Formats: sequence, C-alpha cells, structure tokens
Amino acid sequence: MKLLFERSVSGRRSDLLGSCDVEYAALPEEFARKNPPALPEMSEVDVSRHYTELNQQVHGVNSGFYPLGSCTMKYNPRVDEDMAALQGFTGIHPLAPKDAVQGCQEVLDTAAGYLCEITGMDGMTFQPAAGAHGEFTGVMLIKQYHEKRGDSARKKIIVPDSAHGTNPATAVMCGFEVVNIPSAPNGCIDLEALQAVLGDDTAGLMLTNPNTVGIFDENILEITRLVHEAGGLCYYDGANLNAVMGIVRPGDMGFDCIHLNLHKTFATPHGGGGPGACAVGCKEFLKEFLPHSALMEGGDSIQVRSFSGNFLVVVRALTYLLTLGREGVPEAARNAVLNANYLMEQIKGTFVPAFDRVCMHEFVLDLSSYKKETGVSALDVAKSLIDYGMHPPTMYFPLIVHEALMLEPTETESKETLDEAAAVFRKLYELGFRDPEFMHNAPHNAPIGRPDEVQASRKPVLRWKKEQ
Ligand SMILES: *Cc1c(COP(=O)(O)O)cnc(C)c1O
Repeated sequence: MKLLFERSVSGRRSDLLGSCDVEYAALPEEFARKNPPALPEMSEVDVSRHYTELNQQVHGVNSGFYPLGSCTMKYNPRVDEDMAALQGFTGIHPLAPKDAVQGCQEVLDTAAGYLCEITGMDGMTFQPAAGAHGEFTGVMLIKQYHEKRGDSARKKIIVPDSAHGTNPATAVMCGFEVVNIPSAPNGCIDLEALQAVLGDDTAGLMLTNPNTVGIFDENILEITRLVHEAGGLCYYDGANLNAVMGIVRPGDMGFDCIHLNLHKTFATPHGGGGPGACAVGCKEFLKEFLPHSALMEGGDSIQVRSFSGNFLVVVRALTYLLTLGREGVPEAARNAVLNANYLMEQIKGTFVPAFDRVCMHEFVLDLSSYKKETGVSALDVAKSLIDYGMHPPTMYFPLIVHEALMLEPTETESKETLDEAAAVFRKLYELGFRDPEFMHNAPHNAPIGRPDEVQASRKPVLRWKKEQ
C-alpha cells in the first residue's frame, strides 16, 4: 500500500484543523526553519481510507484469536478507554499546581493501593514507561539498597535460563554481572544449581513465577529463603500477572520488589508501540529509593522518567480493577488458567506440550520431534496459522525448549474460539505430514509472505525519505 507521503497531492486540503484562534507569535530568525516541512497534503476521505487500509493490514485482538504467549494479548474493555478519554484526565499538565489535580493524584494513589494489595508490596511507582524500564527501576532499587549499606561486593544477579531476555539485559544495564543458572528438567529452578552460585557477591535473583514455560515453581519459598540467607534480594518479573492476580502474592512468596506491565494484565492495549506503563512495587525497606512522582532534588530515590509516567495507562488499570472488583480479579486469573489448560488438552495428541502437567496461564509446545518427522518447523506452523485468521503464538521462546510455540489464550476468549483454534492446530498437524511444502510457503493469504527477518533487524528502514 502507498504511504501518506506518496498519496500527497500538492495543494490538496481538508478542514480537519480549524483556523488558528490565537495571535501568531514571531519566532526569532535563528529558530525559524528555512524550508517548509514536507507534510502530506490530502483530503479528509483519503486520510480516512489510508488509516482504514492500514488497520486492515494488521491482526489485532479485535480481528481474531491472538495467543501470543508471554504478551497477554487480551481484549480490553471499552469502558477503560472511555475513562482514559475523560477531559479531566486528558487535559492536565504535569506542572499544574497540586491543588488543581487532586483527582488525578487520587487515581494514582488508589491504583497504587490496590496493586500493593494484589502483589503484597508496600510501595508502588508508576514512573517507568514499559516492562523492561520497570525491571531497570526495580534492579536499581536493589543496587541502591546494597550501596547504601556500603556492601560493594555484591556484583552478581542470578537469572535462570528460562528468563525473559529483558532480565539479563536489565541486570547488565544496571552494572551487574549476570549469572545464568540452568533449569531443572521440570522447567523450574534447580535448587542445587542455585545454591552453587549464591554467595557474598550475590546482589539478587530475578525470577518469573509462573515461569516462562507456564509452570508455577513450587519451591518458591525455599528459593527466596536461600537468596535472602546469602544476603541477596529477590526480584519478581510480574510482567504478566494473569495467572495469579488475586490468588497468590509475590510479596508472600518472599519477593522484595516487582514490576507489573499495566499494558499486559491491566487493560491497556499493546503491541502497536503505543504507550505502556509499568508499576514497580517494593517492600517497606526499599521504599525510600522509589522514584518520586515529580522531579525532586536530593534524597536516595532514583528517577527513571519525568513526572508521574504514562498517567492515562494508570487510569485504564484503575478502571479495570474497579470494574472487576475483589471477586472479579481472581476470577479472571482462574479463567486464564482454565483456558490455557483447556486449549492444551485439546491440542494434546497432536503437537506435544513441552511439559506435560497442569499449566498456568500459558503453555509451550515442543515441535522438535514433529519437525524431524515432517520437516515442518515451529515457524512454518506459526505462519500457517495466519491463513486461518489467527495470530501466531510466540515462537522459539523460551530458549530452553527447541522448536517452541508458546500459547497464551487469555481469559477473555470463549470456549467456541478455543475449540476453533484447537481444530486449526489439529488440521495443521495433519497437513504437515501430507503437504509440508505448502506449509513452508505459508502464509498464502496475507498482505505479505515471509519478510527477510535478518535484513529487517540488521538493516531496518525506520524512516521514510523524500526522493530528491
Ligand atoms: C513482556 C515482558 C517483559 C518486558 O516488558 P516490555 O513492556 O515489553 O518492556 C519482561 N518480562 C516478561 C516475562 C515479559 O513477558
């Protein structure tokens, strides 16, 4: 499809913008641009069609099933958007005097209170703009804690090999050395491997529980005890809290600080690069290091962003929590777990789960033996799903499973949708034996086939350049 710039016709106008109702101010010469900006010139209907066409090129939660494991692509109720669009929330300025934005402050405080209750934490900040940014914030709290105690020997962060890639990256960004530990055969933490690396140089452990293979680590209390005994702190990657919210609290599992992706579990749509927000929570003894909501001088607190973060994302999260209520939050979690187990059971018998046991909100299929038999890879299956109106699952993650497909149906899907999805998986399983070639070339009905992924990541074209 054509870009806006390519559709532009010189002199064409639409009246989307009203005329300017304030006086023009003269810019000093040095700041004035020399050439007019190369903005597209279009009529309103062309703009409208352009964005509709763009919309039709992508697969969103509103177009069909989207079981992208670890990403929680669930339906976000419209009421959350309605609340975030209220003028009292959208029309504020970060430098507005405090007494003019008390309502907004109440939103932040109430949301923080609820999330503290859900996670078992004592303090919460919404300053970070995304999950990885939140990890950075949380691990910096750990760093501050050790440094303020004058314990400069603690230079290592332990990360299991099943971790989300952002965990080791975060530890390095914060100036730590990463110690990788292998998972036990059941996908959980290997206690002996953990004990072997704990010591006076341990700053902390980063863990996701349920982990990235969708399994709840039953040794969690022992794990956090061992880390604490060694003098380290425990960081909980709660990017996706869908399986446990309202049921079990990271704070009770022994974690000292956590992050939650509001744009995964708490009602902000994501995946298109729009603003997310991350809640970072901590226990009482770390609160003094939490970022302040406004820029302040001094103290031991860290700053990771200006002001209060992406405030409207917090409005959505609070609306979501208020509409679900005390009963609805754990019910959503239970349904997320139920849906994942239901789908796994429906697929079983064809593709093989990597770990054949009750899962949490997501599960991983291991297609390595299927690939040996048919030549059809996890990538081929993922691409084939597109032709059936499904978004592919997460592929080749976690790294501990080869030919991995990771499915997270989420709690918002109906039984009918799950049955249809399972039927497609079973059909594709058969097709791999009959016509592997067809699957190697999938998708057959999508706007694009198989982009060159290496080229796209090594030489990304991120900017349109006007032809001279
Ligand atoms: C998504 C995710 C992250 C990172 O969140 P972003 O908002 O994408 O930075 C971290 N950990 C886990 C387990 C995740 O699923």
